[in-house]
Amino acid sequence: STQIQLAARPQGWPTHDDFRTVQVTHGPLQDGEVRVRNAFVSVDPYMRGRMNDTRSYVAPYALGETVTGGAVGRVVESADPSLPVGTAVLHQHGWSDAVQAPASTFRAVAEIPGVPLSVHLHVLGMTGLTAYVGLTAIAGLREGDTVFVSGAAGAVGSSVGQIAKLLGAGRVIGSAGSAEKVDALTSRYGYDVAFNYKDGDVRGQLAAAAPDGIDVFFDNVGGDHLEAALDAFNDGGRAALCGAISGYNTTTRAPGPDNLANVITRGLTLQGFTLAGYLHLAPEFTQAMTGWFGAGTIAYDETVVDGIEHTVDAFLDMMRGANTGKMLVRVDG
Ligand code: NDP
Repeated sequence: STQIQLAARPQGWPTHDDFRTVQVTHGPLQDGEVRVRNAFVSVDPYMRGRMNDTRSYVAPYALGETVTGGAVGRVVESADPSLPVGTAVLHQHGWSDAVQAPASTFRAVAEIPGVPLSVHLHVLGMTGLTAYVGLTAIAGLREGDTVFVSGAAGAVGSSVGQIAKLLGAGRVIGSAGSAEKVDALTSRYGYDVAFNYKDGDVRGQLAAAAPDGIDVFFDNVGGDHLEAALDAFNDGGRAALCGAISGYNTTTRAPGPDNLANVITRGLTLQGFTLAGYLHLAPEFTQAMTGWFGAGTIAYDETVVDGIEHTVDAFLDMMRGANTGKMLVRVDG
């Protein structure tokens, strides 16, 4: 199989020199093993953090090992009765077109007629759950709340707007980095109003979009977006700090926020979280999302790059904003 490994720790923006593509030959299956041909491989912002050798909520990638992460595929050879040939599976073996490993490291997933397996990597999987957890368990979304979402046209953000509306939010505001994305926010992802942060003045654009202030902030971006939200909060506002992608590829530490005192004077709650601590909400999420999804009420988009050899490009393009909805690498389709 073709696998992509981390060869060096990137400084700032990763380059192709930081990765190595290797061919791996799999031996005959051992008892309890299966071989899986991937259909889709995920590229995710958190992977950038794992490329650094710093303490975080997940261990750093080791140099010379295949980059691990979410993928979906089908069992093509099996030496374990629990996963017969043809079973669709989700796993964390990462950037590879095929993988051979113990059956216990794969989880069978439902096949939904007419829907690609890739939905288990986003709207029915990790990014959908992140959106749900952030809004419910972290931000304590209440009926009628005005909600602001940064990074709103990505995999997490495109679910946040819709779930917020389904859970009774009032005005839902999103920001994203292109005119097309801003259009998708209001036409597809449930947002009432949206703006392009690249037009500048995030504070001013947010104030115009939320004349009565915001109650909940779901932050995927950090930096200027966090500062703008802190200015816009109503009393008792709540922020789910989900990500801070604006700083993932910087080599300098940005100053600020310059207005954190608002957290004190307005009694704000800013709560960080990582999904790993909330996996017990997965059944509740799956039940809700399966219902919404089955009723056709959830829109989702994918930006697909073909060929495992283009995984690094897909990852970098995602970090630069080339995706609307979930960025994916298609191996076999
Ligand atoms: P996305 O699909 O949202 O892709 C990343 C997007 O980030 C790009 O499309 C780009 O869109 C935007 N972006 C990149 N640089 C900047 C910038 N400087 N300022 C503003 N936006 C920028 O990725 P995901 O949905 O997978 O992840 C979204 C966020 O959620 C990330 O911060 C990630 O780390 C976090 N996350 C956290 C989890 C947790 O457990 N806490 C779990 C999963 C994700 P644009 O064109 O709009 O700039």
